[in-house]
Amino acid sequence: MSGDFVTRFAPSPTGDLHRGHAFSALTAHQAARDAGGRFLLRIEDIDRTRSRPEFEAAIPEDLAWLGLAWEEPVRRQSDHMSDYGRALRDLAERGLLYRCFRTRREIALAIESAPHGAMEAFRGTPLPAAEEARRVEAGEAYAWRLSLDAASRVLCGFDDLTFIDRDRGEVAARPELGGDVVLGRKDVGVAYHLAVVVDDALQGVTEVIRGEDLFEAAHVQRLLQALLGLPTPAYRHHSLITGPDGRRFAKRDGAQTLRALREAGMTAQALRRELGFT
Ligand code: GLU
Repeated sequence: MSGDFVTRFAPSPTGDLHRGHAFSALTAHQAARDAGGRFLLRIEDIDRTRSRPEFEAAIPEDLAWLGLAWEEPVRRQSDHMSDYGRALRDLAERGLLYRCFRTRREIALAIESAPHGAMEAFRGTPLPAAEEARRVEAGEAYAWRLSLDAASRVLCGFDDLTFIDRDRGEVAARPELGGDVVLGRKDVGVAYHLAVVVDDALQGVTEVIRGEDLFEAAHVQRLLQALLGLPTPAYRHHSLITGPDGRRFAKRDGAQTLRALREAGMTAQALRRELGFT
């Protein structure tokens, strides 16, 4: 079909890949093949404390075992922190971010006491300038949060924000679902949503194919694309693979990692077939 189709598989090296990852990677790879497009691999390792070299090294091994091929060079997020830093500064200079000094515990309490309780995503307010300056001066740690209020002012509301989801059609983005998301983490300086949006644009990704658990992320990411003037890819959120107990696979299910399955004698062909690929 078209050579303009570019998709990616973007695992975080914080554990071994499991069946769920295999399904995701196979789905994206197959879609690229069907479209005559390109399949990229991206290592999402901005969290340097949770990412481990041994998990990173296992990713290409596991994917090659599955029979997948991807383009080189592989983009590794930790090698490009300045790209994300630049986007963060751009948003901050335009008044779209605010510093948040709250701890996790304080955020949880703030959400609990909000009018709709746990239903509510966190929305904060910038501190008065003098207090903020004092706390920065005192060396207190802070995160940068996206201000939905400021974003809404700049874009005159979110009504024009839509994205294509291949299964749902045109979706109206509702970034309120995510609240004032953190774009610059206290510990590592940047955060998931920002890095993903910057990378998808830089890598020319036209189709984001990933699990249904990230559907809500698309709403926030669509907003960031609008604020940063980046193109919006189409999205496809596949359903999650579950185990016999109906629970989705997670990194804690050691027996379902591709490494464990391989060591237990399973062939890649058998796994592909089980997951619905030939
Ligand atoms: N790195 C994310 C994960 O492993 C995936 C991000 C994405 O596909 O947008 O869950």
